[in-house]
Formats: sequence, structure tokens, C-alpha cells
Amino acid sequence: MDLKTEDDRSRPNILVTGTPGSGKTCTSALIAERCGFAHVNVTELVKAEELHDGMDEKWDSLILNDDKVCDHMEEMMGEGGNVVDFHTCGFFPERWFDLILVLRADNTVLFDRLTKRGYSPHKITENVQCEIMQVVLQEARDSYAAERVHELHSDSLEQMEANVERAVGWAGAWIAAKGEGGGGGDGGGGGAAAAPSPPGGV
Ligand code: ADP
Ligand code: MN
Repeated sequence: MDLKTEDDRSRPNILVTGTPGSGKTCTSALIAERCGFAHVNVTELVKAEELHDGMDEKWDSLILNDDKVCDHMEEMMGEGGNVVDFHTCGFFPERWFDLILVLRADNTVLFDRLTKRGYSPHKITENVQCEIMQVVLQEARDSYAAERVHELHSDSLEQMEANVERAVGWAGAWIAAKGEGGGGGDGGGGGAAAAPSPPGGV
């Protein structure tokens, strides 16, 4: 397969990750809408395309098939212009993402959101523990270059709006820089566009 990297793309790919309930889907939908990008909700994709190995009864969740997910997404990721929304991120190829946003929510806020969602007490406790232990943030830091990973508070609508604004601004700057620096780059390095500064973190 022809594996495309960021050098081949004219638009960036953004990963929005975080514990379930942290606000990924709302935030991703807004970023995608304002940038004209695709919102790739991986949970929905896994269900719709059956990119799993059945149900894990104990956890009441689907058993993800990483290889199927990556194979399915390869082509669209090569094109760029995707906002990928998923609660785990270590299995995606590093070359896919130009910006990784890790949404964080306060424990009590997360507890309330997951309760409203009708999660079992077991699943709520598991997810709140996961948030306290910064599992997703650590996974993102272990999987991607430090300068691409940004931790963002997502407790309030004001924070969500600020996070969306920053991501949209960053995407516009990335596209502009790519346009200026693009053309004929054959790996010489001299003409490559410098990546714009990413959005400020917390
Ligand atoms: P995730 O996709 O990470 O599981 P969602 O985007 O579905 O999270 O958000 C979970 C719930 O929390 C939704 O009801 C949403 O409206 C609410 N929510 C998400 N982010 C925020 C935020 N920053 N401020 C207030 N409410 C939020
Ligand atoms: Mn979601």
C-alpha cells in the first residue's frame, strides 16, 4: 500500500482523544464543521463497519480490532482534513496526526456526564479512575511527539468554545504554511513549510 505521510497532505489531521465523557464528540463535530473537515467518530465507525472481534460481556463494550480499524482508515487519513474522535490512541500510526488534543474533565463533572449517559456504576468508576490516573494523556504522550500533544480543559462550554477556536486557528495556519512552503519538495528540506505554533495548552 502507498503509505502517505504529512508531506503528501494539503490539510492536517487532528486527533481528539480523552476519557469517555470528556467532550470529544461535541468538540470534534464543531472543529470539523468550522474547518470543513470530516468528523471521524471511530466508535461509530467500528460499529458500522464491524471493525471488531465481538462483544466483551464483562465490560459491555466491543473488542476493537486495531488492524481492521487502521486498514479501514488509511486512505482517508492519507488525504488529510480529518478530525478523528476516539478514547484510545496508541494504536494509530504516528504519521497520521499533526495535532493531538487530549480533553480533560474534572472528576465530578465527568461523573455527572457519565451518570446522565446511563453508564453502569462499574463503568463510571472505571472511567473516572482512568481520568484521575491520566491514562489517555499518558498514552498520547507515549505515542506522539511532545510538541504535537496538547492537554485541554473541557469542563465548561466556554472552554469547549476556546478549544474549538484554537484548533480551527491552528488548522488554518497549518494549511497556509503548507501552501507557502509546498511545491516540488523532494525531501531536500529547504522548502518545507514550518509547522505553525499549536494551540496553547493548559
Ligand atoms: P465524549 O465523546 O468524549 O464521550 P461528548 O462530546 O459526547 O463526550 O460529551 C459528553 C456530554 O458532556 C455531552 O452531554 C456534552 O454535551 C457534554 N459536554 C461535553 N463537553 C462539554 C464541555 N466542555 N462543557 C459542558 N458540557 C460538555
Ligand atoms: Mn463520543
